[in-house]
Amino acid sequence: MGRLVDGFGRRFRYLRLSITEVCNYSCTYCLPDGFKKSGAMSFLTPDEIDRLVRAFAGFGVAKLRLTGGEPSVRRDLVEIIARAAATPGIDKVAITTNGWNLRRNAAAWREAGLTNLNVSIDSLDPAVFHRITGHDQLNQIVAGLDLALALGTPTVKANAVLLRDTVERGFDAFTDFVRDRPISFRFIELMRTGDNAAYFDDQHVSGVDLQGWLAARGWTPMAKAFDDGPATDYSHPDHAGRIGLIAPYAPGFCDSCNRLRVTSRGALRLCLFGELGVNLRDLLVPGQEEALQARIQAALVGKPAGHRLHENNSGDTRQLAQFGG
Ligand code: SAM
Repeated sequence: MGRLVDGFGRRFRYLRLSITEVCNYSCTYCLPDGFKKSGAMSFLTPDEIDRLVRAFAGFGVAKLRLTGGEPSVRRDLVEIIARAAATPGIDKVAITTNGWNLRRNAAAWREAGLTNLNVSIDSLDPAVFHRITGHDQLNQIVAGLDLALALGTPTVKANAVLLRDTVERGFDAFTDFVRDRPISFRFIELMRTGDNAAYFDDQHVSGVDLQGWLAARGWTPMAKAFDDGPATDYSHPDHAGRIGLIAPYAPGFCDSCNRLRVTSRGALRLCLFGELGVNLRDLLVPGQEEALQARIQAALVGKPAGHRLHENNSGDTRQLAQFGG
């Protein structure tokens, strides 16, 4: 079996697949005016997704994350999860969701084979949450997360974008949240995209600030396994859960890149902040399995060493909902 290794010796065992560009939230840093339709809304079908996942699994990719847009706006999501979970070689099926319908769907997703759930919760203050996302749904999302934990979903995490507003209000609410919940609450440093430059200048805070805050309160960084992604988790003896930090502006961030991305229209994106992508969709049909794998492998040569966010270069990424954050 071939492996997916790029020109810098990085091996890829993790695929992030966007299944829709549509999002029902209007987060200030991503889609402040809400999702606007552009082009035909023709996203990959469950059959196409199945062929794609089989091709990547054939290269030893063992983990699939479904993202978007908001993946849970798709009515066929349970089928997509179930087929991915049944694919030989895939041992983790993950989703990143804003959690708006989690309470209703947590059991069905778990039964279909979902193993990893990431819920985006940018603030634990209902009013601030409402202001950031455009929706007053914090309590129902937290109830959905607690239900997923109670149902035994193997890995549950929460994500928050690190924003100046959040920093100024302090992080205590987040550490309280993981006092008894065995989850990792991960902060993602705000990334500059084509559309959010002014917002970025106003709200970007370096992950170093969070590191200082955690160290001063007795949180210590945990050792990383060799195949871990770019997040660093911090633990504390008085807390069941952990706090995580994803700091894309930190030196060496891309050195441990272990992921590839495919857009909801079937293009392989070699970097979230790159340009264009390699079309795979024409090969997501019966009889093209070998050609599909050959195109994926050939494309890896073009994977860059790292993003160029430091130069204020976000490639053609206007916002993260476009290609799957
Ligand atoms: N709709 C889903 C959700 O809300 O989790 C999945 C897609 S969303 C684009 C994936 C993640 O990217 C979310 O946690 C979101 O907060 C984060 N995100 C979006 N834009 C971002 C940016 N400019 N910088 C950092 N994180 C961002």
